[in-house]
Amino acid sequence: MLSFDPEKVSLPVGHYINGHHIQTQGAAFAVKRPSDGKIYATLREADAADVDRAVQIAHQAVKISGWAGCAPRERGRVLRRWADLIEQDSLLAQLEALGSTRPVSDVVQHEIPFTAEAIRFYAECADKYSGDLFPTRDSSLGMLITEPYGVIGAITPWNFPLSMASWKCGPALAAGNAVVLKPSELTPFSTVRMAELAVQAGLPAGVLNIVQGSGAVTGHALVTHPLVRKVSFTGSTVTGARIMSDAAQHGMKPVTLELGGKSPQLVFDDAGDIDVVAQRILRGFTANGGQACVAGTRLIVQRAIAAPLLDRLTVLCRSVQPGVTWDGDSRYAPLIDERQGNKVASVIAAAKAQGAEVLVGGERFADTAEGWFWQPTLLCNLAQDNPAVQQEIFGPVLTVQTFEEEEEGLRLAAHEIYGLCAGVHTLSLPRALRAMRAIEAGTVWINRYGRSGDFIIPTGGFLGSGIGKDLGRQAFQACQRQKSVLIDF
Ligand code: ADP
Repeated sequence: MLSFDPEKVSLPVGHYINGHHIQTQGAAFAVKRPSDGKIYATLREADAADVDRAVQIAHQAVKISGWAGCAPRERGRVLRRWADLIEQDSLLAQLEALGSTRPVSDVVQHEIPFTAEAIRFYAECADKYSGDLFPTRDSSLGMLITEPYGVIGAITPWNFPLSMASWKCGPALAAGNAVVLKPSELTPFSTVRMAELAVQAGLPAGVLNIVQGSGAVTGHALVTHPLVRKVSFTGSTVTGARIMSDAAQHGMKPVTLELGGKSPQLVFDDAGDIDVVAQRILRGFTANGGQACVAGTRLIVQRAIAAPLLDRLTVLCRSVQPGVTWDGDSRYAPLIDERQGNKVASVIAAAKAQGAEVLVGGERFADTAEGWFWQPTLLCNLAQDNPAVQQEIFGPVLTVQTFEEEEEGLRLAAHEIYGLCAGVHTLSLPRALRAMRAIEAGTVWINRYGRSGDFIIPTGGFLGSGIGKDLGRQAFQACQRQKSVLIDF
């Protein structure tokens, strides 16, 4: 029932500025379907002048429309209507499944409801967090007031286009800002549909604008535009560093950066039902074909249970079947494109050259046309400096390391570059809490792996995994600036 014909999806082509679909004359770029590698659209990228137009419109719209100045609960009302439309729109689900790596069943069951719920969470935040009053002389009043930044520039990656857009737009819009958002050039369409639905829900035209194009041209123009007062980015650590430097040099604007990861899954011999643990580990490294910054891609398992756990994981890995994302029965995501496929292949080759053994997988699935479906892969016999242990691969590849004592396990779990999240699997409370304290990561999941639908829990990394938080009230408050006021009367 969820299956659809990929040739019959109507695409919202162009940029979306001031409530209109706009075509520009910038460089042309082709957009491919990950499932079969077919080019299904060609777009023109927004150059610096086009980005300037979008930002100027946003800057005007947020003031003139009253979006910044209205009662916050009014903004909440619009955002709630927007969330409802997102849930009801079948085109949105098809655009997401067609152009991204997410099978349509996954989009309908998870991506769409999670996108809508994140926006509802920020609808609730809109009028909940205010400033402060300070003790001072009787004849004075000291206070802290909050205000929107104005225009926030948002840049999203290709792995979860809709939910990433909701994590950026929800808090920014609820706090009274305008947004100019650049989705990944690999997955441009679903975000435009989302913006159309926002206008249908009552968001004033021009308050949310979408510009299409590459990071080097469109993204760079957005980050460095003088009227963009804050940048919110999700993507790779290398690009995040570049954006932080550009933002510093062009107005010292604040940045929220949600970046890469190489997260450990630490399994102790008292982890409980081993079949359940194996399922958790599998989901942790194969969800979205391993193309998630939070993917749990380093299994660090206590030696006593390594063999039975690997037996179960091997069986589970072999049971995975590829299938195009527009087939309602597909469950397993392809890699986004050939470049990503080559990256996965090259890290596995480098790992093997340094002594790694492939326990299962290690190759692209045969017979999937030009789609890059990669077999779930287990690599073992790895030293800590093996490239597969050190590098973020962004594919369904799990490295396996074993340990004897708790301290050794915790030492292996540490990573020099990344600190995004970690899974700890043990039924011992003291052990779980010791690990929670010891692990240097922005999120620690104990006896689970992955986020829940509780958007009040923020997410964000330590070290090279980022700065600031997405989600939670923290992301809302980061979209407001604070002004201290002292009044004598
Ligand atoms: P990937 O290479 O896996 O797509 P990136 O982190 O480079 O990961 O991309 C994430 C997002 O950042 C995309 O929307 C991309 O276009 C954008 N981007 C890439 N480089 C820049 C840049 N220099 N400035 C702004 N945005 C960029």
